[in-house]
Amino acid sequence: MSGTFQERLDQVRERMAAACARAGRRPDDVQLIAISKTYGPDRVREAAACGLRIFGENKVQEAEAKVPECPGQLSWHLVGHLQSNKAARAVALFDQIHSVDSLKLLQRLEAAAAAEGQRLPVLLEVNVSGEASKFGLPPAAVPELLAHAPELDLVQIAGLMTMPPLTPDPERARHFFRRLRELRDEWSGASGLPLAELSMGMSHDFEVAIEEGATWIRVGTALFGERT
Ligand SMILES: *Cc1c(COP(=O)(O)O)cnc(C)c1O
Repeated sequence: MSGTFQERLDQVRERMAAACARAGRRPDDVQLIAISKTYGPDRVREAAACGLRIFGENKVQEAEAKVPECPGQLSWHLVGHLQSNKAARAVALFDQIHSVDSLKLLQRLEAAAAAEGQRLPVLLEVNVSGEASKFGLPPAAVPELLAHAPELDLVQIAGLMTMPPLTPDPERARHFFRRLRELRDEWSGASGLPLAELSMGMSHDFEVAIEEGATWIRVGTALFGERT
């Protein structure tokens, strides 16, 4: 890792623009989430000074300590696994949750959003690869969850999120990104929900994810450097 934060951000934006151009997509259709987990408020402030506004964290407890120390106008997304007993704490901190993986959690989030009087867009995390080590819903369980969408008032199921198996070769993730988009098209057609958002792609594979339809990319290392 080298250079200033601004230089690394410029590189990420160039990679995003090139992937959009290859895929015939508009750059505005893909949003960058800066994943600040393990990094402190000073690094978030530096990123915010370069114009970044959307930050992602993977743990409620870490975010509870960090968010109050960061500039107030930022938007925070939870991208890591959430236990339903922490739903209220998550709703108090985050504007969006990318990692919903059970009906119980969806219902807890609805209750917490109602208590806060806050609209809450969420994504369903789908374990496309079926790896046992991964969080997320098996694809077969998703239609059942989507059937509960009409019961939700403040929680809006805006789309889907996935984490492909770790591999150094980003091309090997392509199949999983494409599969998530195909499943989205299928479930959107069946449920009538737009499911417009696809949260997929990280530092090493976000170009491939953009080519396959990502609307949110979650980038940590390429912006902040290796986590220790
Ligand atoms: C850490 C993390 C990322 C970012 O990973 P990088 O490889 O550092 O870009 C993205 N999504 C989730 C869910 C994460 O936990």
